[in-house]
Amino acid sequence: MRKPVVFLFIISVLLIQSCKKEASTVVLSGPVGINDNRNVGASAAELLASDNYTSLTVEVQYSPGMQLQEQTFTNLQSFLEQRLNKPGGITLQRKQVASIGKPVVSIADITSFTDQNRTAYTDGNRITVYVYIADANFDKDNVVGVAYRNTAICLFGKTIQSNSGGINQASRVKVESGVLLHEIGHLLGLVNNGTGMVTPHEDGDNRAHCTNTNCLMYYTIETTGLMNMLNNAIPQLDANCINDLRANGGK
Ligand SMILES: [Zn+2]
Ligand SMILES: [Zn+2]
Repeated sequence: MRKPVVFLFIISVLLIQSCKKEASTVVLSGPVGINDNRNVGASAAELLASDNYTSLTVEVQYSPGMQLQEQTFTNLQSFLEQRLNKPGGITLQRKQVASIGKPVVSIADITSFTDQNRTAYTDGNRITVYVYIADANFDKDNVVGVAYRNTAICLFGKTIQSNSGGINQASRVKVESGVLLHEIGHLLGLVNNGTGMVTPHEDGDNRAHCTNTNCLMYYTIETTGLMNMLNNAIPQLDANCINDLRANGGK
């Protein structure tokens, strides 16, 4: 009888682990913003096309000391203008907010902080995206950014600052922009996570990421792996990723 018991135990451990892995993309309930409380990738078409929403507001909030570089805002604006069909315009807002209050944070900490601080919610013909720059590290090593709801992403400002801008380090703008645009890419449904693939190019070992090592949606972009790339060019979407966005209503 011992062997079956051990076998069942192993299976239950595996189930718990696989649930944990998906914790960053589950639907989380909140008091406000029903349109903004869905899975990552659920608003891909709504963001890309103009059928449901004709304009976009991006609300950027940062804890003290975590303000993004000016060039990063410019890069964000031009990326969105280039890929999204929003004839009513794309507006970026920014504001400093309080500290998240912990050196290491979980998805639960981030979502509760979001519910307390986010003010722009999707309504009428305007869709919104919330970007939070936390003065904390994530509870998973070397992760620099995470998309955790259909219209919300978080960057870990402390991790970014300690790994960029110094001697033999990538520039702050490159790391901030690379991670920010990568996480936006997840909100746009890349790869195969809300936006279908025209040609198969999803990384079998790293779900929702591109197989092309030079693409913005390569999986190492959201870890400190990006910082080890020596040149300071910001990674771009490759042809496969752009084709997917176009087929789902984008430009
Ligand atoms: Zn990613
Ligand atoms: Zn790609």
